[in-house]
Formats: sequence, C-alpha cells, structure tokens
Amino acid sequence: MTDTEQVTLVRVRGRLRDLTLPPRCPACGAAAGVPLRVERVFARERRRRGIIADTARGVTTFHVAAINVPFCTACAARHMAERAATEAPPSPLRTTVAMYGVVALIALAAALVFGVFIWNELAGGWRPTLTFAASIAAGCTVFAGWFFVQAVNVWRASITLPPTSITAAFDFGDRQTRRFEPEWREYRLRHAGYARAFIQANAARLWDDEGPQAIRAARLRRIADSLRIVAAAALVVVFVLLALQAGTP
Ligand SMILES: [Zn+2]
Repeated sequence: MTDTEQVTLVRVRGRLRDLTLPPRCPACGAAAGVPLRVERVFARERRRRGIIADTARGVTTFHVAAINVPFCTACAARHMAERAATEAPPSPLRTTVAMYGVVALIALAAALVFGVFIWNELAGGWRPTLTFAASIAAGCTVFAGWFFVQAVNVWRASITLPPTSITAAFDFGDRQTRRFEPEWREYRLRHAGYARAFIQANAARLWDDEGPQAIRAARLRRIADSLRIVAAAALVVVFVLLALQAGTP
C-alpha cells in the first residue's frame, strides 16, 4: 500500500447489494475472510430556481449507503485498531438534525391545532371551513412526516464514522439516476489487483458513459423533452379552440 498506487475508477450498474465482490482484500489483495461494513454519507441537493428571485432555493437531504466487504484478517485487525485509537469528532450535522426535528415538531403542532379545531366544530355539522381546515391539517401532517424522515436520515449520517485507511481502499460514490438510465455508481478501488478482480466479477454490469444504453437514454431524454413541448403547444391550441367556441353564439 503506497501513495503512488493509482486509484481505479469502475462504474457498475445496479444497487450496492447486487455487486459481486471478489474473495480478496480490497486493501492489500490477499485472501479475504472478515467482512467489514463500509459506509458512506451522501448529501443530495434538491434545488429549484425561484420564479421571482434568481437565487436557487432548496433543501439538502442526507443518505447513508452501506455494504459489507470482505477484507483479510490482518487488514481487518488494523481497521479495528484505527477505530479504537481515534475518537470520532462531534458531527457538524447535529445542528441539521435539530433543525429538521424542530421543523417537524412545529408542523406536527400545527396539524394538531387544526385537528382540535375540527374536533370542536364537528358538532355544528360539516361546513366548507372544516374541509379547508382538514386539508391544511393533512398538508401539515405530510410536511411533518417528511421532515421527521429527513431528521432520522441526518441523524444516521451524523453517527456514521469516516472511513479508516483500510476501508478507504473500497470507496464509492452516490447512486446516479439520470432519466431513462439504470441506476449506477462509481467505485474507487485503491489496489490494482483487486480492481482487476472486481471488474472481472462485475463484467456483465459495467456502465459505459458512451455505451449503447447511455446513448439510448440520452436519445429518449431528448424525445421526452420535445414531446413535452409538443404537449404544451397542443394544450394551448385546445384552449384557444375552446375559447373561440365559447365566444361564438
Ligand atoms: Zn488486506
């Protein structure tokens, strides 16, 4: 294991658990036997341009991806020793957990207020006001639920430890999901021999950015985009025709 070793990038289709892992140690290439949990935290940005302001607004969600990778006994021992020797620093994500949790609680409180209001007013029979209150209560509940799930996800991310020098030998990126493309990931493998075995084991599902599947997906994306424009134009035409018909006596 030297610093001069070249990291091999491999792109594979499918989910983490669908991978075929060679029975070798990703850190040194020796025969593997001890599975270690390799975890990575990914932050996904959901950004959308505002209609009035030009600044992008949005929310960041956090996701933990994990896979059990077999390492050799010696490397596994070194991994354990490293874990035992270093104390994890407090995660900067703790404030995000609190923030998402508070938003969830406020939304839940709002839902409860509207729920109590509906309960109290029910005696007088169902009125449009109550339908309005019920829809707000339902909206608040969905909002609270979504932020609660996000708070749990960030909390999981905050307790996920950074890789050791051993588990860093098997690194991977977040899943890529472009329209019409199957899910794929990029794997960064430090040991050249392991990388060769890994490529061979997953040969049937290697992802090629310029392969026929990627080209087909890009073509489908273009068709879908033009269909959207055609559909929008058709809607305008139908609308104008209806308006004209309504105008004629
Ligand atoms: Zn090893």
